[in-house]
Amino acid sequence: MAKVSIGLRGWRFDESEVFTDEGEFRALDEVPEDARTRLIRLTYLQSKPCDACYLVHGEGEKKRCNPAKVVYGEPMEEVLLCPDHEVDFFYWYREAGGSDYRGEETFRDEFHEWFAAGGRAPDDYEGPDHVDTDPNELPTPPDPAELNRRLNEGQEGKRKRIDFKKGEITYEDWNDEDQNRLDLGQDYPTE
Ligand SMILES: [Zn+2]
Repeated sequence: MAKVSIGLRGWRFDESEVFTDEGEFRALDEVPEDARTRLIRLTYLQSKPCDACYLVHGEGEKKRCNPAKVVYGEPMEEVLLCPDHEVDFFYWYREAGGSDYRGEETFRDEFHEWFAAGGRAPDDYEGPDHVDTDPNELPTPPDPAELNRRLNEGQEGKRKRIDFKKGEITYEDWNDEDQNRLDLGQDYPTE
């Protein structure tokens, strides 16, 4: 089964789970739960800065951070990286004990602590030997507003809402006042 990354390198999806034969995104209801969570989460992670850059520059100088191009780890505990810092992450994961935290809730925190304490890959470290796909050539995650709209097509009584931060779909009662209002909710990405 062909694997594909969407938006950011790192997470990989079975192409047939996420796309129809025509290459369109499937309706979210048809996408298996794990892939769905990651897909929704990706729409939130798009255009976020690299974690390592952010640790270096901080909120005040956020503009100096490179945009993330790679995502590793589990949804909510993922590490976002630019290509420059991906090498440091690989070194941490492979050589500095990072893989012990695979799948753990502390995965991201452990990497952050190591990096903030000055952890870096040696200059001669080879880093990942992935095929260097340009993230700009990856399929773009679905647009959040479009996802919301498609999810609620033909729904009566209950409205589904997507929590883009958590990658979850929740249900709300839907009353008359709400019917004409497209409320994307507080978790709609604003950046
Ligand atoms: Zn970076």
